[in-house]
Amino acid sequence: MTGLVYKSTGSWYTVKTLNGKFYECRIKGKFRLKGIKSTNPIAVGDYVEFELETKNNQETGVINRIQDRKNYIVRKSVNLSKQTHIIASNIDQVFLLVTINNPPTFTTFIDRFLITAEAYSIKAVLLFNKIDTYDEETLLEVKYLAALYRKIGYECIGISAKTGKNIDKVKVLMKDKVSMFTGHSGVGKSTLINAIEPGLDLKTKEISEQHQQGQHTTTFAEMFDLSFDAKIIDTPGIKGFGVVDMDKEEVGDYFPEFFELKQHCKFNNCLHIHEPNCAVKEALDNDEIAYSRYRSYLQILEGEDEHFRTDNFGK
Ligand code: GDP
Ligand code: ZN
Repeated sequence: MTGLVYKSTGSWYTVKTLNGKFYECRIKGKFRLKGIKSTNPIAVGDYVEFELETKNNQETGVINRIQDRKNYIVRKSVNLSKQTHIIASNIDQVFLLVTINNPPTFTTFIDRFLITAEAYSIKAVLLFNKIDTYDEETLLEVKYLAALYRKIGYECIGISAKTGKNIDKVKVLMKDKVSMFTGHSGVGKSTLINAIEPGLDLKTKEISEQHQQGQHTTTFAEMFDLSFDAKIIDTPGIKGFGVVDMDKEEVGDYFPEFFELKQHCKFNNCLHIHEPNCAVKEALDNDEIAYSRYRSYLQILEGEDEHFRTDNFGK
């Protein structure tokens, strides 16, 4: 049987079959996944093959295969072993909630999020929330940012989770897809999810340190079916969007607007900093690339010593 993993709590996985039945499943044998050394062989979002087994009148599943993943997001453990934990896989899109104020979301944060999504091969959408609270000047800022990010290929929607403005547009994007939501604490994630699916009680709220102690189950990702053929992966207690390590040369690959240009740089390993005849710098001088994007690029390069730890995204 083929099924989709909705939840994992250590050694047991909750798997939903194509005809909608849930089974608790275990793993048979050892999985060796090419190129990944993770603490967990299977994650929420994985498609698995399993066989049924009946013990003491209890029907459970034994997973014997995992289908190839189209993508996955990880968390690195803080200890020295640097073991990777796969938070979730096969994510179609991640929505970043952005607010101009209360709380402010800076472009460097948006850009770090976007390159992480690019590195993970996950579609990113920017949702400018709380537009009901903005004065004219702030709305202009939203417009400016939305135009900036649309130009380089990212979908942007101005929404109000509170009044319901443009929530239908978010739902259209979510239909038949697996989505995640992230953004600073206070940007309105819980309010938005409640507007999208009233009654779905996700634990998107930050879990306080004291509460978290000894409650390991609260830190597992979980998939939910919504009423309009959409799926959402909630990652309570997990800091947002994981960690991506990348080489200096790689960073520019995740800035879509650099992509065409860099083939015209004199040096094919050009980092677009001080090199002569750099097409990216020329485009910057001609205002074809947003200065804020280039500044984020430089900051990300400078942060290389920290291995571009982007694990302070999200919650
Ligand atoms: P979270 O930390 O991202 O889950 O944020 P919450 O959903 O808890 O929202 C934080 C605060 O912002 C709450 O007081 C919400 O009522 C408020 N809020 C969220 N979305 C909107 C919105 O679109 N408009 C307004 N005016 N307030 C909002
Ligand atoms: Zn260059």
